[in-house]
Amino acid sequence: MSNERLGRIRGFLLDMDGTLYIGGEAVPGAVAFMATLARSRRPHLVLTNNSSAARSRYRERLGRLGMPVPLSAVLTSGGASAEWLAASTSLRRPFVLGTRALTNECRRAGLAPANAAPETADCVLLGYDTGVTYASLTEACLLVASGLPYYATHADRTCISPRGLLPDAGALIAAIEVTTGRTPIVLGKPEASMVEAGLRRLGTSVDETLILGDQLDTDMMLGQRSGMFSVLTLTGEAARRGREYENVRPDLTVAHPGELLERLRAAGALP
Ligand SMILES: [Mg+2]
Repeated sequence: MSNERLGRIRGFLLDMDGTLYIGGEAVPGAVAFMATLARSRRPHLVLTNNSSAARSRYRERLGRLGMPVPLSAVLTSGGASAEWLAASTSLRRPFVLGTRALTNECRRAGLAPANAAPETADCVLLGYDTGVTYASLTEACLLVASGLPYYATHADRTCISPRGLLPDAGALIAAIEVTTGRTPIVLGKPEASMVEAGLRRLGTSVDETLILGDQLDTDMMLGQRSGMFSVLTLTGEAARRGREYENVRPDLTVAHPGELLERLRAAGALP
């Protein structure tokens, strides 16, 4: 059953952190897997829920690790959110509580960020804002309280650093909720907007698309909700956290991307 479905796979969504690399090292089989996808011209995207950094940073990082990808193959939650707002709503002037990278993603998607004139904003888009100030947080709170449509690129509460957990987008969402009583519509993994932005770029249907990731609550939840073939790799989070979220069931669990590569070859999906 899983073999038959694997044989039909043409498009690939690949989580990056914990799936293709951990820290400064590629995980086993990741380089060969990515090289096979590139060589056989299978549409693929690399994903991250981090909306603070530019796509170029991820491309450089993967390149250094021996996994060259074009810039167009990098999909951040910021890029997916901006593309979804542009394609699925009539909103065009977000007040961006986020980094320059997120503002740039908005512009690229055809939106016109309203930060210079917040009174003209037609929505609020919150990301992982590593440059947040009291002034920007205040402006976002006032706009959210005024009733504007309110979105977030993702809702991860913390992100891991060598010194410990850092406040991520979810921490900013909490500050705004305490102040205004409102919570945003979340657009990154595992939400449908990330799926839609991904499939639009891949040009494949849900049926023939696979998601590979290391997190049950985001990557595998995205696969399960959308009906995509979901493959959990035990290289990162899931292994570390002892696999909570028991209601999420991946279609396949592998030790690392190298094992998935072998399975896909055996099923005839890859040369
Ligand atoms: Mg991950």
